[in-house]
Amino acid sequence: MNAQKLSKRLEKVASFVPENSIVADIGSDHAYLPCYLVLNKIAKGAIAGEVVKGPYESACHEVQSEGLQSQITVRLADGLQAIYPEDCVTVITIAGMGGPLIASILEKEVGRLAGVKRLILQPNIHAIAIREWASKNNWKIINEEILKEDDKIYEVLVLEPGKETLTTEALLLGPVLIQQQNEVFKEKWNHEIEQWLNVLKALEKAEQTKEILAKKKELQQRIRMVEEVLR
Ligand code: SAM
Repeated sequence: MNAQKLSKRLEKVASFVPENSIVADIGSDHAYLPCYLVLNKIAKGAIAGEVVKGPYESACHEVQSEGLQSQITVRLADGLQAIYPEDCVTVITIAGMGGPLIASILEKEVGRLAGVKRLILQPNIHAIAIREWASKNNWKIINEEILKEDDKIYEVLVLEPGKETLTTEALLLGPVLIQQQNEVFKEKWNHEIEQWLNVLKALEKAEQTKEILAKKKELQQRIRMVEEVLR
């Protein structure tokens, strides 16, 4: 992967960035995504935010070697602290982290989202944490994608300001993904069901305490719910 040729996962993230955006990519270890967006004239400017020094230096190096210093600013900062009001950021991308970490980055500096028109979030796991954060904070899921690359399954969530109440099914599986139910979606959730059944089997062998019984009940309900959706 490089700034000219992104991974399939980051290409999908890029595909949701509207033309003429000013993008902040948070957790931008090589700044490949902001460089790609500017090189392809999708973004007219970008911020690459990175909290760890080594990856921050890689991002600086990439921006310099592409000669994009006038359009891309690299900042060593924790989460949304990389963004200032005068940047007039319109789109934020956060990719390649767990859903709970992405949600905590958004939650920590929620005031810095003022004026932002779109969030494009790519959790590696637990997308539910983002959907829960979105419905509590008045962001609506306008699109979702699920894709497989190198045997790993990724979800991409696109959020815009707006109110939305999600069902328990939609929070876990994704309101748009449930409607589409592509092959990758089916593969992911059939695999999850298998894993949960294995956990259930292991719990059967344990002493049947109140906690174990409650955990079993919760798992059984979740399995039934996902099976219903897949049917
Ligand atoms: N976004 C790239 C991608 O999708 O390929 C890089 C993903 S990499 C696994 C996650 C990056 O996010 C790391 O470089 C890590 O240092 C950075 N990161 C984690 N927490 C962060 C935070 N609170 N603020 C900024 N960057 C963060």
